[in-house]
Amino acid sequence: MKKIPFVDLLSQYKSIKPAIDKAIENVIEESAFIGGRYVKEFEDSFASLYGIKHVIGCANGTDSLYIIMKMLGIGTGDEVITVANSWISSSETITQTGAKPVFVDIDPVYGSVNENKIEEKITPRSKAIIAVHLQGQMCAIENIRQICERHNIYLIEDCAQSHLSSMNGVRAGLKGIASSFSFYPGKNLGAYGDAGCIITNDDEMAKRFRMYANHGALKKHQHQIEGINSRLDGLQAAILSAKLPYLQSWTDSRIKNAGIYDKYLSGISQIKLPAVRPGSVHTFHLYMIRAEHRDGLMNYLKDQGVDTAIHYPTALPNLPAYKYLGHQPEDFPEATKAEKEILSLPMYPELTEEQIIYISDRIKNYYQTNS
Ligand SMILES: *Cc1c(COP(=O)(O)O)cnc(C)c1O
Repeated sequence: MKKIPFVDLLSQYKSIKPAIDKAIENVIEESAFIGGRYVKEFEDSFASLYGIKHVIGCANGTDSLYIIMKMLGIGTGDEVITVANSWISSSETITQTGAKPVFVDIDPVYGSVNENKIEEKITPRSKAIIAVHLQGQMCAIENIRQICERHNIYLIEDCAQSHLSSMNGVRAGLKGIASSFSFYPGKNLGAYGDAGCIITNDDEMAKRFRMYANHGALKKHQHQIEGINSRLDGLQAAILSAKLPYLQSWTDSRIKNAGIYDKYLSGISQIKLPAVRPGSVHTFHLYMIRAEHRDGLMNYLKDQGVDTAIHYPTALPNLPAYKYLGHQPEDFPEATKAEKEILSLPMYPELTEEQIIYISDRIKNYYQTNS
């Protein structure tokens, strides 16, 4: 069997090469590099896909989180609640505003924030909760929305891993004041470089987000405030527009592939398969298992030509970057336990049943010879 990469962006490109090449050529021929019609076109089509009033393209999905918080007036002296196991964007952007990140442990079954542990972290300084929809599955968004309402704090959704994911028929990104998406190349909708966006139904906030992302100006040289330079560029927008019509079918293929993994991996007592919440459409940005002897399994799979990854090897509060907060690993027992157990298997629409069978066989073989 040929080596199985963790993600395979080249086969996706090959499957739609003419559309991508044409999109790139158009942008270059029109020199529509910054702003212009390709950015507008993508923002409009993403807005209609989500049934939302405003989409504001940004340079990446980290800036989009920062822009949301900054324009909501979050800053020094404030606290923002986020999840203990995520990509660092979910917490570093809180610090960037001047506010303090407050971590909540994960749910042991689903791996996203444990909604029952949020309220004990709320203080008079709390200004917002960033609900991170990890792995392609939404966290308990309705409970979290109610907590926000009860305490009169903002709900912000980090949808970097949850394009088209939904809960009880409502997509990720539609419950908060504003939501952030990433189009990092490996995300379910990926650009060929950095890209991201904010979505919101709030007209006034939409204006402020757009202004802040463009040096504080909606019109050239009319700087109402100081801002940053964080625009979605034309090339990335055109590539995203070319890919967008395939997002649903790529998502369906991910879900189908997850089902194939479930089938061939069931019955191995040393691993736990990803759990899907009732009412949830899990779009499998990641197919994440819990494994005994995780490091041994990971190395064995590597030797067998299968690349895997860990999302994430160190829980955020346990990182050197957050040493100053003075947390102990025991403060986040589930996130700390997960560090040693979680393993993300190869997952992409183009993965074949034959490849999944191979990976599953290798995993079975590892536990048969190592138990
Ligand atoms: C990828 C990711 C981001 C940030 O995206 P970039 O576009 O790489 O800046 C934020 N949050 C989560 C949970 C992510 O997975």
